[in-house]
Amino acid sequence: MKTLAPALLALALSTSLHAQFAQPDGGTVRPGKLPLTWSTGGPKCMEMPEWQVHEYNPDLFILRQSGCTDYEKPFVYLFFGKDRALLYDTGSRKGNLAPTLQHVVHQWMTRNQRTSMPVVVTHSHSHGDHIAGDADIQALKDAAMPIAFIAPTVDAVKTLYNIANWPEQTGSIDLGGRVLDAIPIPGHDTASIALYDRQTGVLLTGDSVYPGRIYIRDFDAFTKSTTRLVEFTKDKPVAHILGCHIEETRTPFLDYPVGTIYQPDEHALELSRGTLLEMQAALATLNGTPKRVAYRDFSLWPSGPAFRAQDGSQNTFKQTQQFQLDHMWDQTKP
Ligand SMILES: [Zn+2]
Ligand SMILES: [Zn+2]
Repeated sequence: MKTLAPALLALALSTSLHAQFAQPDGGTVRPGKLPLTWSTGGPKCMEMPEWQVHEYNPDLFILRQSGCTDYEKPFVYLFFGKDRALLYDTGSRKGNLAPTLQHVVHQWMTRNQRTSMPVVVTHSHSHGDHIAGDADIQALKDAAMPIAFIAPTVDAVKTLYNIANWPEQTGSIDLGGRVLDAIPIPGHDTASIALYDRQTGVLLTGDSVYPGRIYIRDFDAFTKSTTRLVEFTKDKPVAHILGCHIEETRTPFLDYPVGTIYQPDEHALELSRGTLLEMQAALATLNGTPKRVAYRDFSLWPSGPAFRAQDGSQNTFKQTQQFQLDHMWDQTKP
């Protein structure tokens, strides 16, 4: 009977480890604020900076690229620990992130009376709309913020987060009093990785979970990755799930067509773990057969050569971009 005691203890621990709290008092996570709406692109592009900088709290910044520079208008994330900062993505084409990154890091150093802050530059995955700023940031010659650049490859990411067995194992990085867990989530891209910030309870999911079209390249890998995310978050407080794009409107089941620059009625950025559970259930319903299906806050969108011909997205993209370029300056036609 002696051997039963540790098993019972483990059982008691496992049942008490759900992310529930006795009082709705904010739980154990460091709070932060999200804006009610984000800048998208236009309607007056001359008035818009290339990046909107949002301070979630004094040590977490969310930067959104203007749609006037590129319709992808991705979000990138900047975390500060005591020893170093971590940047998650470098933006899309024509983003010119480097000067804005320098500005934010230097302002942070001034506020914290620091003379230098190393920055680890990493990525949600390897697609062009998340790595376009890499070269400019690598070329920065700023002694106060030395850059440790991590290539968006499975091997480099494994080394950074100390993940021996990809994608089954998770890893982590310590920024100095702030640990981020790294969860491999291939499927949208081979090198996709989610980050969970133990301090704020924020889970970054890149292009794998966000309010928009979830382009799935490898359906089987994506399904397994979603299940791993569900399992990983089972016993942790998830304050927000934050992805890298917004393509949904505020109207349920309705997205903006690909190529849209100005999105005055776009969906909120933040999702909850409930969306993750809905996605897992949606994938299970498809039973291994990739298919496009729209849900309230996202749609599953199998992609790749086999689907490209039938989805007509290239035509939609061209038409949408032309319409937007004709109207984005908000000028009344004579
Ligand atoms: Zn992508
Ligand atoms: Zn993307």
